[in-house]
Amino acid sequence: MIRPRALHITLTPSTTTSNRGCAAIAEARSVLEHELETIRTGGTWKGERVITSKQGPHINVDGSRGDILNFCANNYLGLSSHPQVVEAGIEALKKYGAGLSSVRFICGTQDIHKDLEQKLAQFHEREDCILYASCFDANAGLFEVLLGPDDAVLSDELNHASIIDGIRLCRAKRFRYKHMDLNDLETQLKESQSSRLRLVVTDGVFSMDGDMAPLKGICDLAEQYGAMVFIDECHATGFMGPRGRGTDELLGVMDRVHIVNSTLGKALGGAAGGYTVGPKPLIDLLRQRSRPYLFSNSLPPPVVGCATRAVELLLTSNEIAQSVGDKTMRFRNKMTDAGFTISGSDHPICPVMLGDARLASLMADDMLKLGVYVIGFSYPVVPKGKARIRVQISAAHTDQDIDRAVDAFIQTGRKHGVVS
Ligand code: PLP
Repeated sequence: MIRPRALHITLTPSTTTSNRGCAAIAEARSVLEHELETIRTGGTWKGERVITSKQGPHINVDGSRGDILNFCANNYLGLSSHPQVVEAGIEALKKYGAGLSSVRFICGTQDIHKDLEQKLAQFHEREDCILYASCFDANAGLFEVLLGPDDAVLSDELNHASIIDGIRLCRAKRFRYKHMDLNDLETQLKESQSSRLRLVVTDGVFSMDGDMAPLKGICDLAEQYGAMVFIDECHATGFMGPRGRGTDELLGVMDRVHIVNSTLGKALGGAAGGYTVGPKPLIDLLRQRSRPYLFSNSLPPPVVGCATRAVELLLTSNEIAQSVGDKTMRFRNKMTDAGFTISGSDHPICPVMLGDARLASLMADDMLKLGVYVIGFSYPVVPKGKARIRVQISAAHTDQDIDRAVDAFIQTGRKHGVVS
């Protein structure tokens, strides 16, 4: 047997440095492991199921046998796998390549980017549009450009995390009003009266409850107190309102909401990307100063191709925008008749309220055993005691899909004593 030669290490300055590096990463590992354990023991660990097919109402999930009914994607209009949307992505990939290897202002703007921006501005009936890699970026990049220390931002307390982060980055005075509470908003508008610009900021639809911001009241107050209005329409663009323009269309305030941020990653094809539409000088200034736009790669051509076709489909016909409404009402009515409590109103986000976090998680697991993929949400994503299973309806679900989901809910609901 050949014995390995003993290794004699002399501590040169560089090995000392590398030992210190090892110690630092070992310490970081232990800090991280501790943090991970806290999440596990706190019961808030987020696992990820692996899908082995394309996105749609019927999917394959690693570890589950056969066809699984999917009720937890934001694929509201079923456009993620729409043949025309997929084909447009392939065409763009062939003609324009995989990506730009550049940000927009260096050499990353193609005619398809300009075309999509123009179509989105037209769709929302706003002056101009700027694309981002995501709506998270659009929210991160807007507020610090628009608002300075002399200005004020008034934000609903339950706004999306990306809005909260975007507001943190800006130097305006911050006012947080109680969720959808117009009286509280008015109080804060009075308090912020001395600011130069004021911006009321709200999700159009809040994704945990499927509830809609009271936009008419918000616009009335904003006009009374001289403030602008911003909405995040990620859970509304494409299917809320008669032509799918969003909650501002549904509530008759399209011309009273000044700035809209939304995503291409949900109803509009589901790939990725976000955007801001609003007054031209704002969009011009965002192109000059908005950091996620300036310092991040252009949207890849296939993504632009898919989104453009999705918008074109919606611009040509109102039928697609309305295709999810009946399905939503079928689910909501059947579940309510069966004794479940469904929160929100008329929105394809249908939270099945259960209260207890463990119950929500167990029921979601049992639903998967019955071939229906839904997700339980509990604290800290939703308030304590308000755990739920969030069901999301897609226009691509058939009536039979919806009935199968309701039957599975009744079966698991009976097993866990939620309904009789
Ligand atoms: N705003 C809201 C209300 C959202 O729900 C989301 C996504 O979950 C975002 C912004 C971020 O969108 P994107 O996925 O395009 O970054």
